[in-house]
Amino acid sequence: MARGGGVAHVSLHDRDIVCFHCGARDRVIHDDQRQGIPINSPAWAGFIAHGIAFEKAHAHCLETESSPTLKLETSPGEWERGLFVGSSSGTIFAVLQGHPPLGFARDRLGALPQDPADFHRCHRLLLVVPAWRSRLGEVAAKYPRWAPLVAAWDELTAMLQRRDPGMYDRMQALIGEGA
Ligand SMILES: [Zn+2]
Repeated sequence: MARGGGVAHVSLHDRDIVCFHCGARDRVIHDDQRQGIPINSPAWAGFIAHGIAFEKAHAHCLETESSPTLKLETSPGEWERGLFVGSSSGTIFAVLQGHPPLGFARDRLGALPQDPADFHRCHRLLLVVPAWRSRLGEVAAKYPRWAPLVAAWDELTAMLQRRDPGMYDRMQALIGEGA
């Protein structure tokens, strides 16, 4: 969870760990581990070590023109198959597209953006489908806890863009208002 204004560029996606700057990905959850890796088992230690090594190797990768972070998807269909589907952005998609993203677990529906990284994925989806910005009220109508966040969306967007270190706390305050 990113507490500062920045957003991590190395993250787990499905069964791979991905660097969103250079586009590299490594399989860290293998075929026989789809049901989960028992915590504290040798496989778990291997999974953690692999993740830490990958994160170290890509810590200084810079964002370039061909980075996945800068190559915006061109349609909702491409977005739902992409690297930037999170629980909260998937919730926006589900309400406004009329069905959840591919493979999206139902128990994730309604999830709030909890930190700048979540908000960043929501923001990206709205760049892919700009017409959805004015329809966020439909998300708040279906999931009332979203209302304070939707009301402050422009403020949060500005905080994201200037990497405001107070963004996490501001989001937590808004989440508290909706509770
Ligand atoms: Zn990299």
